[in-house]
Amino acid sequence: DEGRENLTYELFGTAMRELAQAIADDGYEPDIILSIARGGLFVAGGLGYALDVKNLHVMNVEFYTGVGETLDMPVMLPPVPNAVDLGRKKVLVADDVADTGKTLKLVHDFCAEHVAEVRSAVVYEKSQSLVKCEYVWKRTDEWINFPWSVQPPVVKRAGQVLDA
Ligand code: 5GP
Repeated sequence: DEGRENLTYELFGTAMRELAQAIADDGYEPDIILSIARGGLFVAGGLGYALDVKNLHVMNVEFYTGVGETLDMPVMLPPVPNAVDLGRKKVLVADDVADTGKTLKLVHDFCAEHVAEVRSAVVYEKSQSLVKCEYVWKRTDEWINFPWSVQPPVVKRAGQVLDA
C-alpha cells in the first residue's frame, strides 16, 4: 500500500478524540452534527460522543454516475434536512474527507442559507479542496483507505437506488 494513506479503525478512534478536542478547545459548541452519508456517519458518531452532542442528522450526497457518464457536481438526495430541523442552530458538518471539496461546499452552502452558523470537520483534507474546513485532523494528497470501505462488501448488490 505504497502511496496510500491507511486509516485503521484504531487510528480512527484516536483521530475522533483529537478532532473533538480541537473543536472543544476552539470553543465551538454545535447544536447539531450533520453527517454526510456514508463516510461522514462514522465521523459524526465519533464526534457526537466525544463532544456530547446527541442531535445527529444525515444528509445523502452523491456524485451521480449515469450510464458511462459522471456529472461534474455532487447532488443532494432526499430526504434533505428541512429548515425547521436546522433553523437558527449552530451546525457542525462531519465528513470523511474533503478531496475536491465539492461535496462539502454543496452542504455548507445549503446550511449557510438555513442556520445560524456552520462549520466543517473532516478527518482528512487534500490541498486541492475548494473548501477549507475549520477542523481537519490530517492533511494528505494521497488516496486514503478508510477502514469501512477498504474491503469489498460481503455481498454484491445491483441496481440500488436511494429512497426518495
Ligand atoms: P469530494 O471530492 O467531493 O471532496 O469528495 C467526495 C467523496 O469522495 C468523499 O466524501 C469520499 O467518500 C470520496 N473520496 C474522495 N477522496 C477519497 C479518498 O482519497 N479515498 C476514499 N476512500 N474516498 C475518497
